Amino acid sequence: MSQPTKVLITGAGGFIGGHMTAALLQQGYQVRAVDIKPQWQWYQRFAAAENLTLDLREKANCYQAANGCEWIYNFAADMGGMGFIENNKALCMLSVLINTHMLVAARDCGATRFFFSSSACVYPGYKQQATENPGLQEEDAYPADPEDGYGWEKLFSERMCRHFREDFGLETRVARFHNVYGPHGTFDGGREKAPAAICRKIIAAKLSGADAIEIWGDGLQTRSFMYIDDCLYGAQAIMQSEIRQPINLGSAEMVSINQLVDIVEEIAGVRLRRRYILDAPKGVRGRSSDNALIRELLGWEPAIPLHQGMEKTYAWIYEQMISGGGKDAVVNHY
Ligand code: NAD
Repeated sequence: MSQPTKVLITGAGGFIGGHMTAALLQQGYQVRAVDIKPQWQWYQRFAAAENLTLDLREKANCYQAANGCEWIYNFAADMGGMGFIENNKALCMLSVLINTHMLVAARDCGATRFFFSSSACVYPGYKQQATENPGLQEEDAYPADPEDGYGWEKLFSERMCRHFREDFGLETRVARFHNVYGPHGTFDGGREKAPAAICRKIIAAKLSGADAIEIWGDGLQTRSFMYIDDCLYGAQAIMQSEIRQPINLGSAEMVSINQLVDIVEEIAGVRLRRRYILDAPKGVRGRSSDNALIRELLGWEPAIPLHQGMEKTYAWIYEQMISGGGKDAVVNHY
C-alpha cells in the first residue's frame, strides 16, 4: 500500500491528536493539524505542521480541512471524563456533526482512508455490572445499551463509518479506545479522566500538606488504562491494516481505582486518607478490554505497564502544577 503524502489530524490541539501530530511529523508525513481551540491552547503545536483553527461541526470547514489530504485521523470530539459526559449528554451527541461532516468531506475530497476514534463507552451497561469484568469483546456491543449520550453518538458514528465504506468505498477504520492516559492532556477543569485527576489530587495534597483526597465512588470500580504510546502505535497499525470491523484498542491490565491510587501514591512517595464520594459520577462498575481480536489480527496488544506510564504522566502533571500549569504555550519544532 502506498503511503499518503498528506494526513489530516482533527482534534490536534487535544491530547491524542497532539501526540499523533508529533509522531507523524517525526515519521516524515506532511500533517494538517486542525482544532476548534485557539492555537495557544493546544497541548502540542508544531511549526512543521499546517495548523488551522476550525469548528468542524460546520460542513464548509470540514471541506477546508480535508481538501488535499489522503488520510484522515478524526480525533475531534466534545468530550471529557465521566464528570463531563454524565452531565453534558447533548454536547457529547453534537459531536455527530463533526463525524458526519468529516465523513462527507472525506468522501467528496477524495480521501482514501478515514480513522474514527470510537470508545469503550459503546459497550452495554449490562455487560459491565461487576468489578470482575472478564474483558469486553467486540461482539458485546450489541444488543446496544451504550453509555447515554457519548456512547450512543460513538456507536452511531461507528455505524456511519461502516456504511460509508460499504456504500461509497471510503476505507474507514474504527478503534474502540479504552481509557488513554499520558502527558500533554487535560488534568483539571472538569474534563480530565481518572489517571490525570488522581495525579492532580495527590500532587495538590503533597504540595499543600493536606492528608486526604477525595475519590469518586467507593474505589472498587475497575478499569484498564492504555498509555499514549500504545495508543499511537495501535491506531497507526489499525489505519494501515485491512481491519474493517470496529476493534478494541485498550489495555487488558485491569485495576480498581483504589489500586490506581496506590500506584500514584507510591510514585509520589505519600500515603493519604481517602474520602469516598459515593454520589459522584462513576460510570460502569467494571470494564476492561478483551484483546483476543487485536492479538489475532495484528499480533500485538497494548502492553506498557500502568506503573511505567503513570510515572511519566505524574512527572508531567507535577511539572505543570509547580510551574503555574495550564497548557504548553510553545511551538515545538521538528
Ligand atoms: P481531547 O478532548 O484532548 O481532544 C479532542 C479535541 O477535539 C480537543 O482539543 C477539542 O478542542 C477538539 N474539538 C472539539 N470540538 C471540536 C470542533 N467542533 N472542531 C474541531 N475540533 C474540536 O480528547 P482526547 O483524549 O485526545 O480524545 C481524542 C478522541 O479519542 C476523541 O474522539 C475521544 O472521544 C476518543 N477517545 C478518547 C479516550 C481517552 O481516554 N482519551 C477514550 C475513548 C475515546
